[in-house]
Amino acid sequence: MLYIGPHVSISKDIGLAPERAAENGAGAFAIFTKNQKIWEAKPLSPQSAGFFKSNLEKHGYDGARVLAHAGYLINPASPDPELRRKSLRLLSEEITRCNLLGLDKINIHPGAYIEGDRKDGILRAASFFDEVLEDNNFTISIENTSASGTNLGGALEELLEIIVAARNRDRIGVTLDTAHLYGYGYDVRNKASATLERAAALFGGEKILGMHLNDSKAALASRKDRHESIGRGQIGAEAFLEIAASPFAQDKPLILETPDETLWPQEIRLLTSARS
Ligand code: ZN
Ligand code: MN
Ligand code: MN
Repeated sequence: MLYIGPHVSISKDIGLAPERAAENGAGAFAIFTKNQKIWEAKPLSPQSAGFFKSNLEKHGYDGARVLAHAGYLINPASPDPELRRKSLRLLSEEITRCNLLGLDKINIHPGAYIEGDRKDGILRAASFFDEVLEDNNFTISIENTSASGTNLGGALEELLEIIVAARNRDRIGVTLDTAHLYGYGYDVRNKASATLERAAALFGGEKILGMHLNDSKAALASRKDRHESIGRGQIGAEAFLEIAASPFAQDKPLILETPDETLWPQEIRLLTSARS
């Protein structure tokens, strides 16, 4: 089964997110667990969490259809002890929120190593995820990136290196973002299935916990991350139909992080028509 839907806003009340997804005809959706641009988080009230869970059920979703996205300030690969400490605290806090909301996994970028050796950054990210997973019985899904600047995780092999270096690798999976794949240099326009097969061969198909389906404004191998609506970018609609028909896209949240929300219903309808 295909479960496709957008990253929806949590403004006003996080409990409104499921109906925002349902209004678009979504079978899955993504949320931030808190304002993604600040370190601080007001504790999640039991009322909001309860409202979210009852709304989730009311609209026919369960926690497995929701792919939470961790905030952008968290840098798992940071060489700065203070930033690392703050990042650890915030990711733990976000996981606590996921637990209260009945969600089972959180998507996060592998981080930027900033300075020094790339390899040290990889090891810092692995030990970061280990530390978080030791305190929390939870699943982390690391998202591939377009590898701008010193960001890790452009090459899928590099994501695998992080996972393999972690003791708690059984609770770490991956999210494949198509715009990031393309920006890094995987030609998903012409080789959509082959790219997914390559990822599945590398990680194991069951390790692909979700996908971010975004067309790309940025060119192949530009190392840029610019999302575009499905079919309006460099990747093109055909590649997304191929991805949606792939066995590796079934039964997991496929999230649209596309810029024009008025197009979400038709993007969902288009992709859902591509059943394998
Ligand atoms: Zn992301
Ligand atoms: Mn993404
Ligand atoms: Mn992106």
